[in-house]
Parts: sequence; C-alpha cells; structure tokens
Amino acid sequence: MSGVVDHLAELTGFRDRDVMDVTLVTALRDLLNGPAAAVAIYRCVGEPGQQRWLTRARLHAGDAVATADSLWVDPDTLPRLAEHPRRLECLTQRSVLQQRENNEWVTLFPLATERDVVGVLELHTARRLKAEAQRMVSSVLRIYHNFQGLLDYSERDTLTGLLNRKTFDESFLKAVSELPLRVHAEEAAQDEPDQDRRHAAVHPRYWIGVIDIDHFKSINDRFGHLIGDEVLLLLSRLMRSSFRFNDLLYRFGGEEFVVLMRCEDEPDAAHAFERFRLNTAQYAFPQVGRITVSIGFTQIRSGDSPAAAFERADKAVYHAKGAGRNQVQSHATLVAQGRMAEASHLSDVELF
Ligand code: GH3
Ligand code: MG
Ligand code: MG
Repeated sequence: MSGVVDHLAELTGFRDRDVMDVTLVTALRDLLNGPAAAVAIYRCVGEPGQQRWLTRARLHAGDAVATADSLWVDPDTLPRLAEHPRRLECLTQRSVLQQRENNEWVTLFPLATERDVVGVLELHTARRLKAEAQRMVSSVLRIYHNFQGLLDYSERDTLTGLLNRKTFDESFLKAVSELPLRVHAEEAAQDEPDQDRRHAAVHPRYWIGVIDIDHFKSINDRFGHLIGDEVLLLLSRLMRSSFRFNDLLYRFGGEEFVVLMRCEDEPDAAHAFERFRLNTAQYAFPQVGRITVSIGFTQIRSGDSPAAAFERADKAVYHAKGAGRNQVQSHATLVAQGRMAEASHLSDVELF
C-alpha cells in the first residue's frame, strides 16, 4: 500500500505533463511488479479524420528509462488510428479491453478527460490481469486524470481553453534552451528570409507569432460583449484546426493570441500563419459575418528573452495594422527591407 502512495505522491509532484506521463508508466510497471512486461501511454492527436497515435511514454520490462515521441514530431510520420484497431476499439467503447496476443496478455484502459477519450494506456503482462489489479490501475488513472484537470484549470484560459500567458515563458525558455549557442551570432546577423535550408535540417528553429483581431472593439460595440466572446471562442477553434497539434497556442488576453511553433524555415512559418489568416477571413461567424486578423511573426534566437521576441512579433503586427490589416508580416523581412528598425532589447520587467 505505501508503495502505491509513494508513486501517487511522485505522480502529482510534477506540473510538467511529459514528466507525469513517464512517471505514470514507471509507477504502473513497478506496482504491477513481476507480470508487467511493458506499459505505454498513447494519445490520439490531430484533426478528426486525420488522427494518429502519439507515444507519450513507453517502458519495457528491462528498460531503465521510458521512451516517447518527440513533442515536435512530424505528425505524418505517426501511425494512423486504424493501424492499431484494438486501441481504437478501447477508445470508442470507452471500456477496458483484455485479450491474449502471442504469449502475453494485452490490457487496454481508456484515458479520458471531462469531454473526450484522448488516448489509451496499454499493459503487456505475462499473465491475465486480475480484477483487483485492474481496479488498482483504474484508480491510479482516476487520480492522474483529476490532476490533469487541475493543471488545465491553472494553465488554460477559461473562455477558449487555449494556454494562458502564465505558461508562455516556461515553454519559450525550453525552446530557447534547445537552440545551439554557436548559431547565435550568425542568426542575429542574418535574420532574413532567405536563410540556408540545409542549416535548418540540423538545428531546430522556433517561431513566435502574435495574432490580433482587426477592429474587435467595433464587433463588441455593434453586437455586444457576449457575441464578442463567441467570436473569441470560434477563433480559438480555427486556431486549433489551422495549426499543428504540437504548436503551442495561447490567449494572451483580450483579443490577442500567440503561437509558438517549431518549423524549418521562414517560408514554412509564413505559410502556417497565412493559412490561419485565410481560414479566418473565409469563416462566416454567426451574426457577425466576416472578421480578419493581423499577424506578426519572428524567429526565436538563442539568448532571446520572451519579452524581446514578443516585442519583435508585436511590432510586426503594428506594422500590419498600419498597412491595411488582414495580413501577415515578418519582422525579419520588414527589417531587411529597411521598413523597421531592429528591436530594442527590452527586459522582462519592462514588458510583462
Ligand atoms: P485593431 O484593429 O487596431 O486591433 O482594433 P481593435 O478594436 O481590435 O483594438 P482595440 O485594442 O482598440 O480593442 C480591443 C477590444 O477588445 C477592446 C475590448 O473591449 C475588447 N475585449 C478585450 N477583452 C475582451 C473579452 O474578453 N471579451 C470581449 N467580448 N471583448 C474583449
Ligand atoms: Mg489588441
Ligand atoms: Mg485588435
């Protein structure tokens, strides 16, 4: 019993979801002690109809550490839902499934949130998992689920469900820490659209985009605050369907949104923002009709602070507003064309 409590204490001691999933598979392997040959968490990601299995954490009996798909994996390389029919069955039936496969037993537990089943927990054991063990796993999953709900509550915006501003700095600094230091001087010197594509294949590149709704005040004025809120909610859904599942989407406040994405080069980043701009311009918002957004984006540099990168993207938004709205502007391009000065280096204290 104390073993279970220890594992639960460890499971709920982290606010980092990646670490939590690894802790969960480790705890279950230890708790099932003996029969468990493998434990894994698979989540379904992507848009309906295009969904795939993402491995969040997987641990085989002899493994010292769990493995997982990278957060920034190319979704097209992941297996489609139909490639694992038993997992899909567990997901749709929302119930525990157990069956013999070759020499072992495979037991699948659905992983649910308030609204949806979002993935499965898969256990491989030498013997059939007894009812008592199944109950123990289900109880641990309930605690895991409740804790994830608490995390959502503190990290997400209540209206749109997007990440809130509080969590931005942490994810930003995580991205910056992955940038190789030696590229810094080079990048700062040539922060321009035509960067070497071969270079991009070797080093990760991250981008931040700031999205601001055009003339939102007049939407509130004409249709009222409630309809304004509905526009914000619908726009957040358009963001989810326009960007990739692993792009980080934030509501920074009011009618301002931020996207943190990993992407090979400037044309790819510009393309992603352009796609969202177009999807928004073409969407018929109930009662309101058409709305547009102005977007500014910039590449994240090594040594960047969240405030400095945000400021560059925000200046590009400001430029887009001045140039007629409903457009995407790249900070690097504006600087290269001499239409904007390189950003001053604000400190975190000044901006946030
Ligand atoms: P621009 O094209 O220059 O961006 O003009 P704008 O009207 O969108 O910009 P401005 O910053 O003047 O106005 C933003 C408005 O957003 C003002 C405020 O009433 C509204 N707003 C901020 N937060 C919320 C919210 O949570 N819900 C609603 N409905 N409106 C909000
Ligand atoms: Mg604004
Ligand atoms: Mg606005």
